[in-house]
Amino acid sequence: MRHHVPHFDRHWDGSPRHLPPRRTLQIAANSPSRLLRAGQTSRCRHCGNRIDWYPRSDDRPIALHPAEVAAIDVSPTCRWHLSGGIAHPHHDGSGWCRIPHAVLCPQQSPRSRTGSPRLASLCRELGLRSRRLIDTGAFTPTSHPPAPGDAAGQPVRPVVRILLVNYLGESAVETIRCVAQTRQRSRCTHPVLAAIRGRWVLLSTQPCRGQLTLPDTCMAIYDLSHLSYADQLRWRAQRCTTHATATAAADLTLAGWQPFDPLLHAEHIRTELPTPEPAEPEPYQSRRR
Ligand SMILES: [Zn+2]
Ligand SMILES: [Zn+2]
Repeated sequence: MRHHVPHFDRHWDGSPRHLPPRRTLQIAANSPSRLLRAGQTSRCRHCGNRIDWYPRSDDRPIALHPAEVAAIDVSPTCRWHLSGGIAHPHHDGSGWCRIPHAVLCPQQSPRSRTGSPRLASLCRELGLRSRRLIDTGAFTPTSHPPAPGDAAGQPVRPVVRILLVNYLGESAVETIRCVAQTRQRSRCTHPVLAAIRGRWVLLSTQPCRGQLTLPDTCMAIYDLSHLSYADQLRWRAQRCTTHATATAAADLTLAGWQPFDPLLHAEHIRTELPTPEPAEPEPYQSRRR
């Protein structure tokens, strides 16, 4: 029988006493993604389960289930793989693949329970975890935004025109936040909105992708066309004025823009201009930054 030899380099719970110094994460100059992989994990707002965000090749984000699954269990249309930090919607030929969380989400896709037994068991597992999170109060599911505007008439998700392309923003214009990483390795707290602001205008919904049957109505758009090219690029990269040119600062999260599609985003179309903000009596210096 061997005597137990205590390890003095570990705590009673097995965790190491001395941690190696933390290294700063950096983006390789030739990386196709400017996103640090640390910090791209979040929770599904419908079910509370963990998701990993990845950019697609066209920069649109997608939430993937955080673990790989056997490709044989997944229908070919739902197989994704990662390459250079970018998510691609097909299979890379290995026995494993990634799967969009929306396929598994217990709150979003109760209809699609026709997968393999292993996938069905994974769905049940996520469903149970979601139930437990909700029951213990650790998570409150959010439903779709009930109203397109808040009390002040500002759209909750505005349509913003950047470099003549319409994007759907992730939140009200004033609250869109810089995505860059600060020196403290946390996300920058500055807003993207700067001294020169955009203008609310009524413009055509512009049926896209040849949807000629779509009624061509006017909608409120936060137009940035009068800003300089560099400033519009800064808006599209979702960076504050400090991080506009700081190329060394990586993005800590994905920019929240979605290319605006009048069919997909019909619920966010507002046909009236928001009530104008009160005139700005306060001096520039006292404005919250
Ligand atoms: Zn979910
Ligand atoms: Zn910033």
